[in-house]
Amino acid sequence: MKVLQPDNLAEALRLLVEPDGTPVPIAGGTDLCVHWPARDLDNTRFLDLSRVAGLSRLTLTHNALEIGARTTYWDLICAADAAKAFPLLAQAARLVGAIQIQTRGTWAGNIANGSPAADGVLAMMVYGASVVLQSVRETREVPLDEFFTGYKQSVRRPDELIVAIRVPRRAYTFEWLAKVGARRAQAISKVGVAMTRSENGWRVAANSVAPHVCRCRTLEAALNAGRTFTSPQEVRSLLSADVAAITDLRSTAEYRERVLSRLIFYRLAELDKPSGHV
Ligand SMILES: Cc1cc2nc3c(=O)[nH]c(=O)nc-3n(C[C@H](O)[C@H](O)[C@H](O)COP(=O)(O)OP(=O)(O)OC[C@H]3O[C@@H](n4cnc5c(N)ncnc54)[C@H](O)[C@@H]3O)c2cc1C
Repeated sequence: MKVLQPDNLAEALRLLVEPDGTPVPIAGGTDLCVHWPARDLDNTRFLDLSRVAGLSRLTLTHNALEIGARTTYWDLICAADAAKAFPLLAQAARLVGAIQIQTRGTWAGNIANGSPAADGVLAMMVYGASVVLQSVRETREVPLDEFFTGYKQSVRRPDELIVAIRVPRRAYTFEWLAKVGARRAQAISKVGVAMTRSENGWRVAANSVAPHVCRCRTLEAALNAGRTFTSPQEVRSLLSADVAAITDLRSTAEYRERVLSRLIFYRLAELDKPSGHV
């Protein structure tokens, strides 16, 4: 194995287009290192981002939160203003692994890894985040809900790094996230859901129920049209256009879809109670 350690972004991007082959970017290593014992790494080259200056910033302005590519979950938990402005990001950060993982794992790594169960992606997606990708040729910004193209597949080209994530600031009247795992902490999601409501309407995203974290656009459209529900089954019928859960070692498709629709139904029902207006 060879580890390349650039100390600036220009050098990091240049190393991605070297004729020797594309190195694998590594940030916190909390996803990559899990697979190390099972892989033959003799010929692998890693691009270590830990020394690249300027990637660890977390900048909250009047308009947006900018999360640098080396920003960890813990950085956000400790940034009181950012955590207050985006409570679902703070909640998701605390749900990822334990403190050891939260202090190493990055938001960008959570996106780039492309897991269908990613908790950080779930929260960022309902806040309308976009991914800033940079190569030696160009910088482009892709909405997070257009970033994934399939299981562990994305629009990121091998010569690009995620350099930042941009989360626009909006006035929210509803923000909610729920994660169901085998236990309350240190568990990968069996099913997760997040919802927001702003002047732009409803946003609903779910994890572990599709090949990648996805928006539930049919449900969003129904909510934006003012639809209400009288049973979890009605929610589930709508969700069938948005999600395609599978059975795997963590759960069954039936459990995932049933729990997802019940979580949403009962949370929405709370809003109809006199004190629960949005
Ligand atoms: C014990 C344990 C518990 C966990 N629990 C959870 C959990 O509850 N919820 C959850 O969502 N995740 C969980 N994870 C997964 C992991 O911690 C997160 O996905 C984390 O955000 C990954 O970030 P990282 O910086 O460690 O990524 P790395 O492991 O460094 O990289 C992950 C992937 O992203 C790529 N990459 C990283 N940075 C960039 C970049 N800037 N540009 C382009 N590509 C990049 C790498 O090449 C690699 O493919 C857990 C992991 C462990 C080991």
